Amino acid sequence: MTKVLVVDDVEDNIVLLTFELEDEGFEVVSASSGRECLELVPKTEPDIILLDIRMPGISGLETLEQLKANELTREIPVIMVSANTSDNSIVRALDLGAHDFVPKPIEYPVLSARMRSALRLVNARRALVKANEELERLATQDPLTDSYNRRHFFTLSEAEFSKSLRYGRPLSVLMIDVDLFKAINDTYGHAAGDHALRVLTDCCREATRESDILGRLGGEEFALTCPDADLEGAFALAERIRQNCEQQKISTEAGEAFSITLSIGVTTIAETDTRFDNTLQRADNLLYQAKALGRNRSVAC
Ligand code: GH3
Ligand code: MG
Ligand code: MG
Repeated sequence: MTKVLVVDDVEDNIVLLTFELEDEGFEVVSASSGRECLELVPKTEPDIILLDIRMPGISGLETLEQLKANELTREIPVIMVSANTSDNSIVRALDLGAHDFVPKPIEYPVLSARMRSALRLVNARRALVKANEELERLATQDPLTDSYNRRHFFTLSEAEFSKSLRYGRPLSVLMIDVDLFKAINDTYGHAAGDHALRVLTDCCREATRESDILGRLGGEEFALTCPDADLEGAFALAERIRQNCEQQKISTEAGEAFSITLSIGVTTIAETDTRFDNTLQRADNLLYQAKALGRNRSVAC
C-alpha cells in the first residue's frame, strides 16, 4: 500500500485528509509540525509527503529544504499544500525541489491524481536508475563469474598502477589459470566446468580485500591486481586461494564430485615497469613457469 505522510498544523485538516486519502486506498501517517515531519520520515519511510506551507515553528519551506538536503529523504516526492497562492512561496517550493502544489481548499480527486502522477514519475525514475545499474554491470562484468571483464579489469588496474607509481606504494599482480581444465570439461561436461569457474572466483573473493581487482581475462584465466600488497603478501594470498580452491568439492548434476587445482604467477611492480602491462606480462611468464614445474603451485618473483 502506498504510504503518505500528511503534515499540517491544523488537526481538522489532518483528520479530513486522512479520511479522504484512506478512502482512496492510501496508508496515512501524520505530523503536526515540520519538526515532527523530519523526525517521522526516517522512521516511517513514506512514499510521498503532503506538506503544508504555513506552519508555526519550522515552516513548510524550511522542512522541504531539509528533506531535500538529506540524501536519505531527497528522493521522496513532496506535494506542497497551501491556501495562500498569492505570495512567491509556491515558486520557492518548486525551486527547492517540491514535486507539485495543490491549493486549499483541496479538491480531493485533483490531489489524488497529482499524487499518482508524482508516484508514477518516481517509479519511472527508479526503474531507469536500476536499468542503468544493470547496463553498467553488463558492460563491466563477466556474466558467468561476476568478476570484471577484461576491459574493465585493465581500466581499474591501470588506474591503480598509476597511483602506485605516483605515491611509491606497492602493487602486486596474480595471474591464475586452472590446471588441465580442458580435461575437466571433457570428463564432467561444460556445465560442471562453468560451476568450477564460479567456485574459483568465490575462493578468490573470500581471500581478497575490497580494493583488490579480480578480472576474467579469458576462458579459465583470471588476474588479480592487489593494491598495497608486496610480493610476500601477494604470494601468501596466492597460496591461500590455491589451497582453498583445491579443497573445494565440486559436484556435478550426475552426482559425481571433483576438484580443481590452480597454477599462479605472482609478481610485484618493478622499477623498470612503465605500464601495467609490463607487470602483468611478468605474472603471465611466472604462471607458465608454474605450469612447467608441474602445475598446482604458485611461483613468485
Ligand atoms: P593447462 O593446465 O596447461 O592450463 O591446461 P588447460 O587444459 O587448462 O588449458 P587449455 O588452454 O588447453 O584449455 C582451456 C580450456 O578451458 C579449454 C576450454 O574448453 C575451457 N574453457 C574456456 N572457457 C570456458 C568456459 O567459460 N566454461 C568452461 N566450462 N570451459 C571453458
Ligand atoms: Mg588452464
Ligand atoms: Mg588457459
